[in-house]
Amino acid sequence: MKISMVSEHASPLAALGGVDAGGQNVHVAALSSSLAARGHHVTVYTRRDDPDLPAKVQVGPGLTVVHVDAGPAWRIPKDELLPFMGELADGICADWGEALPDVVHAHFWMSGLAAIQASKRAGAADPVPVVQTFHALGSVKRRHQGSADTSPPARAWLEPWVGRTADWVIATCPDEVFELKALGISRSKISIAPCGVDLTLFPGTSDAEPTPRTHRILSVGRLVQRKGVDLIIRALPLLADAGFNDVELLIVGGSGDALTLEEDPEAQRLHALAKELGVEDKVTMRGQVPRDAMPGIFRSADAVVCTPWYEPFGIVPLEAMACGVPVVAAAVGGLRETVVDQKTGLHVPPKDPEAIAEAVGKLLADPALRADMGRAGARRARSRYTWDRIAADTEKAYRSVLAAGLSRQAGNGLESLEGTAL
Ligand code: UDP
Repeated sequence: MKISMVSEHASPLAALGGVDAGGQNVHVAALSSSLAARGHHVTVYTRRDDPDLPAKVQVGPGLTVVHVDAGPAWRIPKDELLPFMGELADGICADWGEALPDVVHAHFWMSGLAAIQASKRAGAADPVPVVQTFHALGSVKRRHQGSADTSPPARAWLEPWVGRTADWVIATCPDEVFELKALGISRSKISIAPCGVDLTLFPGTSDAEPTPRTHRILSVGRLVQRKGVDLIIRALPLLADAGFNDVELLIVGGSGDALTLEEDPEAQRLHALAKELGVEDKVTMRGQVPRDAMPGIFRSADAVVCTPWYEPFGIVPLEAMACGVPVVAAAVGGLRETVVDQKTGLHVPPKDPEAIAEAVGKLLADPALRADMGRAGARRARSRYTWDRIAADTEKAYRSVLAAGLSRQAGNGLESLEGTAL
């Protein structure tokens, strides 16, 4: 199959851990290369955010990344990219020329706008089928972040429109299916394909990096408030009260190359909190770490703690599991599926430092339990979350769309968008 991926802000070639560079980048990169390894021809379209990027990068056999000129050629927060989606669609159409793909798969709601426009424009009589993965939903974000949500207001109606207009929607977990149905998207065109974990990169046998204290707990992710890293810092004094004094909390992730940790407001907020609670000496902030250094870091941890307010999927727990490390996870979104409570880790209620301290303490106190849970996690990652399996599920969704010819039935929404300034 000839497959176009659209990932407006999340380039598969970007460094990870910055505010807007995380799971979506990993997902698009791994899914695209796994589909290419299955014999498909995959082109990923992403916005040029650096004038020095080449127009096209041949990443490997069957996999190309195209940097499309859409808006200024520098990094722009993803919530400010909406005005450039028309240009992104133009660039995609120009690259397609007469040779249309079999399917266009959009990642994130704004990519969906560009993909739908490109599909209709390029294939006027026979639009290219559009498959949509949202990765995150504005409705959920608004529920949790309220007025702090920086999404453009139009997301409230454009995102459901994308879901209703796309020929197929791939959710990453059952929780998301529920949310999609609430947006008026028909269940009959939704399938589930979770995120995966790269077992070549995370083989579970990497050498652990040395640690400065008896115990290390680890937080990995973009440094944004909703990831709940402050809750783990709040758990440290409680752990000390419970007798776990010699504990390091290693925080991996940062704002990206635009800011140092000293300039990053979230890093500074976390640092101030650690100071206020008297646990400054237990907290190490590593900043952004390249992919190939991650396995040694995961392997060095007694437990990985993922306690976001909400989480559309969450690849970090899978990486921890692949590395044989138990996970303390807030029981939200995708984490409820990936981390099996009492088997591969421990669930805690969201926003609850006491529960985090209790769960972490339970693991730190019991090396045999940690080892058992680590082994169970590694088995689960290997049996259910290989990217090849996710690519096969995704391919199935593409084939259903093609077979059903749904693309020809779903096209009436575009007109309602014509004339709307994107
Ligand atoms: N990551 C990384 N280096 C960093 C911080 C994060 O490689 O400094 C990776 C991490 O290993 C994971 C991804 O970024 O693969 C974060 O994905 P996740 O789905 O957990 O969170 P999201 O970014 O989607 O909210």
